[in-house]
Amino acid sequence: MPWLRGNLHAHTTWSDGVKNANQLIAAYEALGYDFLAITDHENWVDDGYWQALPRLASKLLLFHGVELNWPRFDQHIGKVIGDRETLHVLNHPARYQLSVAQTVERIRRIRAGGLDLDAIEVTETGQRRPIYESAEIPLVKIATDDAHGPIHFGQAWIEVDAPRKRDAIIRAIRAGEFRLGFATD
Ligand SMILES: [Zn+2]
Repeated sequence: MPWLRGNLHAHTTWSDGVKNANQLIAAYEALGYDFLAITDHENWVDDGYWQALPRLASKLLLFHGVELNWPRFDQHIGKVIGDRETLHVLNHPARYQLSVAQTVERIRRIRAGGLDLDAIEVTETGQRRPIYESAEIPLVKIATDDAHGPIHFGQAWIEVDAPRKRDAIIRAIRAGEFRLGFATD
C-alpha cells in the first residue's frame, strides 16, 4: 500500500486564508498530495460553509473540517470529519508558548470538559516544534502546515499507511501508523 500524503489543517477565504477553496485544492493537487482537510475557523463560518464543502470537486480525498475555539481558554482544536470517524487535534501549542507540563494539563482539562483529543500538532504554521514530540504528551504527534497562504503550502505533512478512505486514514492516525514530513528536513 502506498503511503498517503496529506494536510489536515488548512484555511480558505471562508475564514482567514488568502486562497479560495478551489485555489487551495489546486495548490495541494500540484504538490502531489493525496488528501486535504479544509478547517476554517468556526467563528467565521456559517451554514453556507457546510453547504459548500460537499460541492467541492478534487482529485484529492477531501475531509470537511473546522477549527474550534475551546470555550474555557484560548486554544484552537482541529476537527477533521471522516465518514463515521472524527479526529480532534490540539492545534499549534507553540503559539500559546506551552511547556510540556502545561500541554499535558490542557489535554487533561479539555478531556474533562468532554472533548476527547486524538492528536497534537508538533508544528506552528508548518514549522517543526520538537518540544511537543515529547513522550510525556499522551497524544499521537502530527504535523500540518496550517495553511493560510502559499508561504505555508507544503511546509509540513503527514504520510499515512492506510487505504484511500477517510475513516481508514483517521483510524491509522489514531493507531500511529504514519510518519511526518517537513520541507526543511
Ligand atoms: Zn488554523
